[in-house]
Amino acid sequence: MKKAKDIMTTKNLTRLVVSMAVLMTLLAAYVVATNRRPAFIGGDATPECRSVVVVTSGDTLSKLLADQGLGHNEITAIANVLKSDAGIATLRADNDKIEFLRDSDDSPVSKIVVIPSPWRQVELTCGEDGAWKCNTVDIERDVHVVYRTGEILDGDSFYLAGSRAGIPAGILADVYDLLAFEMDFERDVRAGQKFSVLYEENFSGGEKVDNGRVIAIAFEALRGDVKMYRFRKSDGTSGYYDENGNGAIKSLKRTPINNAKITSNFSGGRKHPVLGYTRAHKGVDFRAATGTPIPAAGAGRVVARSYNRGHGNFVKIRHNKEFETLYAHMSRFAKNVKVGTNVRQGQIIGYAGSTGLSTGPHLHYEIIRNGKHVNPMTVKLPAISNLGTADKKKFLEYRKVVDEAIQQLDGKPNLFIQM
Ligand SMILES: [Zn+2]
Repeated sequence: MKKAKDIMTTKNLTRLVVSMAVLMTLLAAYVVATNRRPAFIGGDATPECRSVVVVTSGDTLSKLLADQGLGHNEITAIANVLKSDAGIATLRADNDKIEFLRDSDDSPVSKIVVIPSPWRQVELTCGEDGAWKCNTVDIERDVHVVYRTGEILDGDSFYLAGSRAGIPAGILADVYDLLAFEMDFERDVRAGQKFSVLYEENFSGGEKVDNGRVIAIAFEALRGDVKMYRFRKSDGTSGYYDENGNGAIKSLKRTPINNAKITSNFSGGRKHPVLGYTRAHKGVDFRAATGTPIPAAGAGRVVARSYNRGHGNFVKIRHNKEFETLYAHMSRFAKNVKVGTNVRQGQIIGYAGSTGLSTGPHLHYEIIRNGKHVNPMTVKLPAISNLGTADKKKFLEYRKVVDEAIQQLDGKPNLFIQM
């Protein structure tokens, strides 16, 4: 890995230094500078006196503490302070780790460190008065901003091309979700299209720990280039915006199920495969195996969860005064989704099937605008958040800086911007 100093050999030194400084100022605001400590804790304890337990399914805090020889009263005290001071009420299997430290092999536990994420540790120590105290420590992360470019080849999926470009799976999934607001991966993706992603990698103690956020995306889609930039507004909230500063996150998704192939389009009149006569197809059909989870295309309130002869099991969601969506032929409904339930975008509302008038398992998806069926693939969808005048001005300056940073990183996959 090359550090920032290696970029200094390039021609545009001054411009780069300026653009990096501005980028760092603009992007670094979120790096919380308080209560930091380098790398991992417990350097003063010898390895013999430390044991690490990875929480597995069926483990409870009480059980793990009892295994370490702690008594009932201490266990209750630790659970209470962990809940009140660190907000940890339950342990998550295959995620959380707990370190137990002792002065010597046969002495009692003197310190417990609960590790719910690579970037946060909760230290519990027993004071001389016998009371357990809790202290949360944020681990310092060293953020590298990297740039990857790729191209769709014949027979490629976006995922395949993305992994060939060296983009990690988690980042690709985020990029996919973001692009899904603007693109239809089934119809807008062709061989020869290029794409790029600017994103964060988080390091600690010189080792990569995980990936951060997607900062910018570009995709040469069939219906025009799609560009998105992550931007932090003056109110502190962040979102994604196109190159002109319009909100890129739409209130509804054109394709609720990622990567689903369209088997039938919206049309004014087509021959119905079961009824045999011509009638309008008021939605879009996506191929989906029976049992495929169906996410809500947008946040809203469930107004129907029912069965009829045509739609089979269906759910209808009202999103706002203007828009409703309908999902048909479900094999079953999600348990917690009833009429009146408020759902968030992406929440699973049911599972694909072939109930009602259907020739095979698929999702029939409708968007209804002001009571009229519209084509989900072409209807103009409202952005969740657009920028005010002041934020828009800032965004356009910020976008220039990001674009310049991209130019510097382009074609040099070993370079990164350190923040
Ligand atoms: Zn249909």
